[in-house]
Amino acid sequence: MTTAPRTFRIAAIPADGVGREVVAAGRAVLDALAADSGGAFAFEWEEFPWGCGYYERTGRMMDEDGLDRLKDFDAIYFGAVGWPTVPDHISLWGLRLKICQSFDQWANVRPVHFLPGVVSPLRKADDTELDWVVVRENSEGEYAGLGGRNLGGRGPGGEVAVQSALFTEVGCERIMRFAFDLARTRGRRKVSSVTKSNAQQYGMVLWDDVFRRVAADYPDVETESVLVDAMSAKFVLRPEDLSVVVASNLNADILSDLGSALAGSLGLAASANLNPERRFPSMFEPVHGSAPDIAGQGLANPIGAVGSAALMLEHFGLPDQAARLNKAIEATTAAGILTRDVGGTAATEDVTKALIDALTI
Ligand code: ATP
Ligand code: MG
Repeated sequence: MTTAPRTFRIAAIPADGVGREVVAAGRAVLDALAADSGGAFAFEWEEFPWGCGYYERTGRMMDEDGLDRLKDFDAIYFGAVGWPTVPDHISLWGLRLKICQSFDQWANVRPVHFLPGVVSPLRKADDTELDWVVVRENSEGEYAGLGGRNLGGRGPGGEVAVQSALFTEVGCERIMRFAFDLARTRGRRKVSSVTKSNAQQYGMVLWDDVFRRVAADYPDVETESVLVDAMSAKFVLRPEDLSVVVASNLNADILSDLGSALAGSLGLAASANLNPERRFPSMFEPVHGSAPDIAGQGLANPIGAVGSAALMLEHFGLPDQAARLNKAIEATTAAGILTRDVGGTAATEDVTKALIDALTI
């Protein structure tokens, strides 16, 4: 008896700039993986042309029924959104954040992974042993969009704007449980919680309270609470002490960019926007933006996008395939096949080909 291959339906949204180049690379690598699986699984793709170019033609970042068309896919594979000709609040909110919020993708997972053959600015002897994960609260916090401008009109001192942050017990608790559960799957069972609760006395103090309460349910997991300024220093000075770092939307956004820069380049960093309840599709995308300065020149590093594809495979319940993809990444960088951002001369296409070759050896 033959069993039908498991087919995963993926919506590809390359969107803007290098997003288009790295999504094409990721798709090629995933298709090579499926072709080499002996028929065990397959990917069925549908590509959506949304993004800033689409906005300039139609006045919309995505179709009106876009969310409806996405909601039954097994996953969304995203490139990058944003272009200098379209204001960020239109491009970001009209596509990427709209998907994140509508599909309740409240957990954003951003591994920081040091690779052989890539020189880190840290230059620690054991660089390649370093890897930790930033878990970002992705639905509230500082990016809740609360506040306004010109509140109370213009006073003698000019305009006043207020930007508030929203912290809920439910929102804090679910991201922390997610972080603790993730820590239990890792060699080092440790969760570091990050706030600025010495200076922000409401939301972040709630965060600290909930962290202590949730931690009590995970006695086997080591914990620490660190202020974000101290954690920035720790990323640089003692990264070997980190395993899972959980932080609010803004703090984790900044820390994960720092982490990817330490690993060698923003172009290496992968991420997953998860709806852990699986009521809606989750979205997998590199951390970097559309990189207008290098877009369209074949220079983009595809590793962040390919690493995001590995996170997607884990989400599909294919951890062995995810590991194969990560091994192919390590083999490629170790062989010195590197794009310009990590000190090499290889084109996007060369790295993609090397990744595919490393998979099928
Ligand atoms: P966003 O606002 O969308 O986060 P950004 O303005 O922070 O974007 P990016 O578009 O991520 O910036 O680019 C920041 C820098 O990193 C640029 O110099 C860009 O060339 C470089 N960069 C980003 N992605 C890649 C990549 N995949 N390969 C090589 N370099 C990259
Ligand atoms: Mg950025």
